[in-house]
Amino acid sequence: MRNQPLPDLPRRILMGPGPSDVHPRVLAALAQPTIGHLDPAFVARMDDIKSLLRYAFRTQNDMTIPVSAPGSAGMECCFVNLIEPGDTVIVCSNGVFGGRMRENVERCGAKAVMVEDAWGQAVDPGKVEAALRANPGAKALAFVHAETSTGVQSDAATLCGLARAAGALSIVDTVTGLAGIPVEVDAWGADAVYSGTQKCLSCPPGLSPVTFSPRAVETVKGRKTKVQSWFLDLSLVMAYWGDKGGGARTYHHTAPVNALYGLHEALIMLQEEGLEASWKRHAHLHSALVAGFEAMGLSMKVDAAIRLPQLNAVKIPAGVDEAAVRRQLLSVSNLEIGAGLGAWAGKVWRIGLMGQSASPMHVLTCLSAIESALQSAGASIAIGKAQPTARKVLGL
Ligand SMILES: *Cc1c(COP(=O)(O)O)cnc(C)c1O
Repeated sequence: MRNQPLPDLPRRILMGPGPSDVHPRVLAALAQPTIGHLDPAFVARMDDIKSLLRYAFRTQNDMTIPVSAPGSAGMECCFVNLIEPGDTVIVCSNGVFGGRMRENVERCGAKAVMVEDAWGQAVDPGKVEAALRANPGAKALAFVHAETSTGVQSDAATLCGLARAAGALSIVDTVTGLAGIPVEVDAWGADAVYSGTQKCLSCPPGLSPVTFSPRAVETVKGRKTKVQSWFLDLSLVMAYWGDKGGGARTYHHTAPVNALYGLHEALIMLQEEGLEASWKRHAHLHSALVAGFEAMGLSMKVDAAIRLPQLNAVKIPAGVDEAAVRRQLLSVSNLEIGAGLGAWAGKVWRIGLMGQSASPMHVLTCLSAIESALQSAGASIAIGKAQPTARKVLGL
C-alpha cells in the first residue's frame, strides 16, 4: 500500500495524438468538492456546460451533451441511437477511425457500404456522391472530419451537404477537430457530431461531447426497435441531461461530477480565448512547427492543403530507430510524441499541437528535442536551423 499523499508520476509535455496538456485551472476545477449529481447547484452547472458546448460546436441543437465516457462512446452513441437493424450506412474510410465506424454499423445489425480513400488523402466527395446515388435508401453517411491517424482534414461542409441532398443523415467524427479547426455544426447541416475532451479541449480523457440535430432527434424518436445499448440510449440519458421545464432531472447513471467540472472550466477558457482565436492559434503554431522541421531537413507526409494543424505527420529520416528516438524524447525531455499507426507505423511521427499543447514553448521545445535526438541517432539533418526559423514565424 502506498503511503504518499499523491503518486509520484512524471510531469510530461504531451505532444502526441492526445491526451494534450491540461491547464492548471482545469486540474484545480477537477479538485472542487464533489456534490450530488442531482444537486441544484450541479444542475445549474450542467446547463452551463450544455450552452458552452453549443458555443464550441456552433449549434443551436437542444440535444447537446457530454456522454459520460471517452470519444469512442460518443461514436457509439451516434450509431446506436440512429441506426437500426437492416439500415444501410455509407462509411468513409481514410485512416483508422473509419474502420471503427464500420464496426459500429455492423454491430447495429446494419450494412456498411465503404467509401475508401488512401491514408493521407481526404475523403473524396465524388466517391461519396456516387455511393449515395448507388444506395438511394441509405440511412446515413458517416465520416471522420479530422483523421488523427494521418493528420488529414476532410471537407465536412461538402460531405454533410451531399448527405442532406440525398435524404441521408450525416454522422461526423470531430474528436480531434473541435476547438482546433472550424467546426460549424449548424452551417454544415450536420446531424450527429461527436468529439472528445482530451484533444483540442485539453481536458483529461473520459468525456465525449455530442450534438444531435432536430432531424436526428426525430429519427431517434421514430425508431422501430429499442436502442441496443441501455447506457447510451439518448431517450433515457435525456431524462437526466434534458430540461423538462423547471429543471427536473431523473437519475439515469451517476454523472462523473468532477470530470464535468473540468470540462466546464476548459470550455470557459475556450470562450475567454474565443473560438476563432483558438483556430488561429492552432494554425499559427502549426506553420511554425512545419517551418522548423523543413529547416531541419525533414518533410511532412500530408499535402499542405489538407493538413490538420493540430496533428502533424512528419516523415522519419531513413535509418533512424524511431522507437529509440521516442524513448529518448520521453526520458531526456519528458516529451511525448505519437508513433505512426497501421500502414504508417515506422514511417511517421504524429506530433500533436492540441489545445494547451499548441503554444510557442511546445513548438520550440519539440523542435530542439527532436533535433538533438536525431543528431545523436546519427541522422543527416541540418543543425541549428529549426529554432531560428520557427522563431521567425512566431515573431520571437
Ligand atoms: C481519439 C479519437 C477517437 C476516440 O476517442 P477516445 O477518447 O480515445 O475513445 C475517435 N476518433 C478520432 C478521430 C480520434 O482522434
